[in-house]
Amino acid sequence: MKPGDTALIQEVWREHVWAARPMRVVEDSDELVVLWFPRGTRWQAPTAPAGRAREPTRGERQATSLVLGEWTFRELEWDVDTLQLWRPGDWHSTWVSWLPDGTHWGWYVNIQLPFERTPRGLRTMDLVLDVIVDADGGRRLKDEDELATHVARGSVDRELEARIRAEAERILARRFDDAWLDWRPDPAWTRPELPRAWDRLVE
Ligand SMILES: [Mg+2]
Repeated sequence: MKPGDTALIQEVWREHVWAARPMRVVEDSDELVVLWFPRGTRWQAPTAPAGRAREPTRGERQATSLVLGEWTFRELEWDVDTLQLWRPGDWHSTWVSWLPDGTHWGWYVNIQLPFERTPRGLRTMDLVLDVIVDADGGRRLKDEDELATHVARGSVDRELEARIRAEAERILARRFDDAWLDWRPDPAWTRPELPRAWDRLVE
């Protein structure tokens, strides 16, 4: 991928697209892929199909969709400016975000399957648990309750759960590269847009 390209980032569950996001390629090498996902970018998130009784929490709704292999999509707009750092082989990607006034929102570490390259971008699958590092350095886990729901329902098995928790512990202890805080996008870049057939694994 070349700087400025739009990459299609797909989350995939059992060979079906679970979520799709367009991101602008900042850099791409064998060691690091950097992606720009600006505020206002439209992306596709999974949602329960019409007709299914609505469960009270997002974790339950998503676990049911995964177990049944049934979901539809809804379009969402991303709400902050986000730069994403993806390293080959890592069980997470690291996001730095800025608020509309340019202040640093903090770091968000998204635990996910190691990415694979596709003809149109990258594929992975979100693994529910996340780590948030506030701009003042405070660290916390996000969505532990949702992980517990996925384990109870079987959409995350015990072995994978252990892997996810070990990854979270490593992330809680790691350092973050503040050099990225000064990064700014090419002013000529428009918001990336999803390509056609974003819900397909092959174009
Ligand atoms: Mg996540």
